[in-house]
Amino acid sequence: MDWATGAQPCDRATGARPSGGFGRMEPDDGEVREWADQTVAFVLRFVAGLAQAPAAYEPAAPQLWARLRQAPPRTPGDLRELLEVLGQAVSMGAEMAGPRMMGFVPGGGLVSAALAEFLASAVNRHTGLAGHAPGAVALEQGVLRWLCDLFELPSAAAGVTCSGASMAALSAVVAARTRHLDPRETARGTLYLTACAHRSIAKAASIAGLHPGQVRTVPVDADLRMDVEAARALIDTDRKAGLRPFCVIATAGSSDTGSIDPLADIAALARQEGMWLHADAAYGGFFQLTDRGRARLAGIERADSIALDPHKSLFLPFGTGVLLVRDRGDLRAAFVLDDTPYLQDVDKDTALPDFADLGPELTRPFRGLRLWLPLHLHGTAAFREALDERLDLAARAHAALAAEPRITVPWTPDLTTVAFRLRDRDENAHARFVDRVNATGRVFLSSTRVAGHHTVRLCVLSHRTRAEHVRQALDAISDCL
Ligand SMILES: *Cc1c(COP(=O)(O)O)cnc(C)c1O
Repeated sequence: MDWATGAQPCDRATGARPSGGFGRMEPDDGEVREWADQTVAFVLRFVAGLAQAPAAYEPAAPQLWARLRQAPPRTPGDLRELLEVLGQAVSMGAEMAGPRMMGFVPGGGLVSAALAEFLASAVNRHTGLAGHAPGAVALEQGVLRWLCDLFELPSAAAGVTCSGASMAALSAVVAARTRHLDPRETARGTLYLTACAHRSIAKAASIAGLHPGQVRTVPVDADLRMDVEAARALIDTDRKAGLRPFCVIATAGSSDTGSIDPLADIAALARQEGMWLHADAAYGGFFQLTDRGRARLAGIERADSIALDPHKSLFLPFGTGVLLVRDRGDLRAAFVLDDTPYLQDVDKDTALPDFADLGPELTRPFRGLRLWLPLHLHGTAAFREALDERLDLAARAHAALAAEPRITVPWTPDLTTVAFRLRDRDENAHARFVDRVNATGRVFLSSTRVAGHHTVRLCVLSHRTRAEHVRQALDAISDCL
C-alpha cells in the first residue's frame, strides 16, 4: 500500500490486479458495476424524461454557473453527485435530443450508439493504423463499404469517418486541390457553390488556403437549386481570365430548406470541365436508404466525394461524420503518412485501410463502433423506415402550413424541412414570432435568411419526433401567428 495514494501494488504472480488506487482509477468489479448502474439509471431517466421535457429549458440560476465551472478536486468525488451536476448541465439551452427539436438540422442520439461509445472507450483501440487494431478497422471498413455500395461507388472507392461534414468538406477540398492544382497555382484555383451551400464549405476552402475571391457563387433557380448553365458560363469566364476552376460543390439537402441541387447535371458539368464534384449530403445523404430519397438524389453516385452526417440523418450522437471518395488514391495523395520512423514497427496489411492515410487524423478513436453497433443491432430497415416516416411527417406539416392563410410556403420540401414566411409581416415580426413559438416549450424552431428574406424553418429529423409532436408544433405555430 502506498500511504500517499492508497494504491496497492500489482501482484503478477497471482494475477490479482490493483484495485482502487490512484483515486479508484482502476476500480474493482463491484465498483464498476455500481458506477455503471448509476450511469445507466441516469440515461434511462434522461431518455424517459424527453417525452415531457420542454423544447428549450428555462435559463439557469446564476449560482449554477459557478458549480459547473468548478475546478476538479484533489481527492475523489462521488459519482452520484457528479451525475447530478451533469443533469443540471444538460438541462440548459434547447433539448437537442428531444422529440420537439425541429430547429436547425436536428440530431438524434441513439442509446445503442451511447453503448457503442462506452464499449469503444473501454477497449480504447487506436484505429489510425490498421496494424494497431486490425479487427476494429475491419468493423469500420465494413460499414464504410456498405455506404460506398449504397451510393453505387466503384470498388476503388473508400470512406473514412470523421467528426462531421465540416471536416469531411475540408478533406474533400484538400483532395480536390491536390488532384487538380499544381501547388504553385493554388492562388488561381476556383471553387463553385451556391448561396444555399453550407458555410462550412467556404470555411473549408479558407483553411485549405483559398482566399474568399476564389470561392465563386453560382446563381440558383426559383427552387433554390444551382443554375447549371450559369455555373458553366461562370466557369468559362473564369477560365478565360486565367483562373483554374477545380471544384464544384453540389448540396444534397441544404440546411436552409433541404433543397437538392440537380446532381446529375452538375456531375455532367464537372466531368466535362475536368473538375472535382463534392456532394454535401450532410443532411440529405441517408435518405438514399428510402425510395423517395434515392430518386431525389439521383446523380450523387457520380460525385468524386460525398459528405454524410450520421449524427443527423442516422440519429447517431454528435461528432459522427463520414467522407466517401470515388477513388481512395485521391485521399492518399493528399494525406498519406509515409516515412514516420517512430511508426516503423506497425504491421502493414494491404487489405485493411490505414485511416491515418485518408485524412488529417493520426490517433483516432474507435469511431466506427458508433456506426457498426446500431446498424447491426437495429438492422438497416429500421433506419429506412424511420427516414420514410420523417418524409411523411414533413409532407403533412407542409400541407398544413400551406393551407394556413396567414403563412406563405414558397417551396415544396425535397426532404424534411418546411420553410415558411408570415404573410405581410416584416423582418422583426418574423424574429419575434420564432421567439414566441419557442417560448411555448412545445417545439423549437429556427430561422434563416433565404435571398435576403427572413425565413422560418421546421425540420423533422430526430427519430424521437412522432406525429403528435408535429401536431403540437403546428398548433404552437398557429397559436403564435
Ligand atoms: C450540418 C451541415 C454541415 C456541417 O456539418 P457538421 O457536421 O456540423 O460539421 C454541412 N452541410 C450541411 C448541408 C449541413 O446540414
